[in-house]
Amino acid sequence: MSGRKTISETLHDGVGMVFDAEDVLYEEGTGHHQLTLIRNPVFGKVLVLDGAVQVTSRDEFIYHEMLAHVPLAAHESPADVLIIGGGDCGLAEEVLKHRRVGTLTQVEIDASVLDFSREHFADFNAPVFDDPRFRVEIADGAVFAAETDRRFDVILVDSTDPTGPGAVLFTTEFYGSLKRILRPGGIVVSQNGVPFLQPDEFSKAMKGLSSVFGTATCYLVSVPTYFGGHMTLGWSTDNPASLAVSEETLAERMSGIETRYYTPAHHRAAFALPRFIETLLENA
Ligand code: SAM
Repeated sequence: MSGRKTISETLHDGVGMVFDAEDVLYEEGTGHHQLTLIRNPVFGKVLVLDGAVQVTSRDEFIYHEMLAHVPLAAHESPADVLIIGGGDCGLAEEVLKHRRVGTLTQVEIDASVLDFSREHFADFNAPVFDDPRFRVEIADGAVFAAETDRRFDVILVDSTDPTGPGAVLFTTEFYGSLKRILRPGGIVVSQNGVPFLQPDEFSKAMKGLSSVFGTATCYLVSVPTYFGGHMTLGWSTDNPASLAVSEETLAERMSGIETRYYTPAHHRAAFALPRFIETLLENA
């Protein structure tokens, strides 16, 4: 299917981004989501699920590098890693750059997102599918976390926003399951939205994470297509020392990994929060 049209993001009430669609590459209900894939002159390919932008070819590296490298560089020995969601596989690509990672399991609810991303985002996710450390399960991440006997050193929740199938990934019950399957000293990082536009969602997620993990904070990333100011990534752990790893150690653990956004100095800086986010966190 092709033709010129525009696609509007409908995630936030009262405000949204509009993308010029040079081509509409795909538009269909998958059973879990309404999936739209367009080509935009600024951002390249843009994947939209249920009216919310998920990933674009042009700025995916920003979000994926910060979601992967911050916890992996902070962890002493991230042997077994779990991704919940992450259907476009851009996060898996960053995780697998770490030779210290022995296994990567990805639990994604929607096989269509994986299939379409494999076909249309091969420019960044192609290496993932040939990597013997990578294994995908098509399942609800909340059910997997509640039932699995496996344990993980780092868990990355790369979810849609808290509506539709993603809603369950923002519940206290799900956070309890993550704690159960996290090894001692482990780290959970979760997509917690843009607090300027989603203060209630942010507060609810942080309150749930703190009540389950004790140590829960967040760090910042600015992604052009997740507009509205900084996005926050939740950081939950039983190991507060993971927040104090020196730049020197981070640099050693990142050695040989090329990045376009992440640096050890920026890793440390990303935990310095603007006052209004600090206040939301304190009051959560
Ligand atoms: N970075 C993106 C964002 O914040 O907009 C998220 C990208 S990724 C495409 C989100 C993935 O989460 C989707 O592929 C979706 O199918 C998956 N997902 C949503 N709910 C899920 C659930 N309950 N279990 C597993 N995966 C889920």
